[in-house]
Amino acid sequence: MGRNDIVADGSTGYIISFSIKLNIDRLAGASCPDFSGYVQSVTAHELGHVFWLADNPPNTASLMNQNRDKSVIKTPQAYDYANVNAIY
Ligand SMILES: [Zn+2]
Repeated sequence: MGRNDIVADGSTGYIISFSIKLNIDRLAGASCPDFSGYVQSVTAHELGHVFWLADNPPNTASLMNQNRDKSVIKTPQAYDYANVNAIY
């Protein structure tokens, strides 16, 4: 439903640029009573990748879990904050 393109410096790992794209056709087809919240969840998930967070961590209460309830988990969760703090 979303994708990102990240360009990073090969030696430092620092992000040089990124873009996030949402597939509005797939989002519009998703049965969700909270469409704007759903879009927020997918956008925030893709932004998580910009912080080098990976998909499907072992903790299911994560914005990065692809099977999260997107009408409920729309922002970074405690697990996600801890991972970003661990990386940076
Ligand atoms: Zn992802």
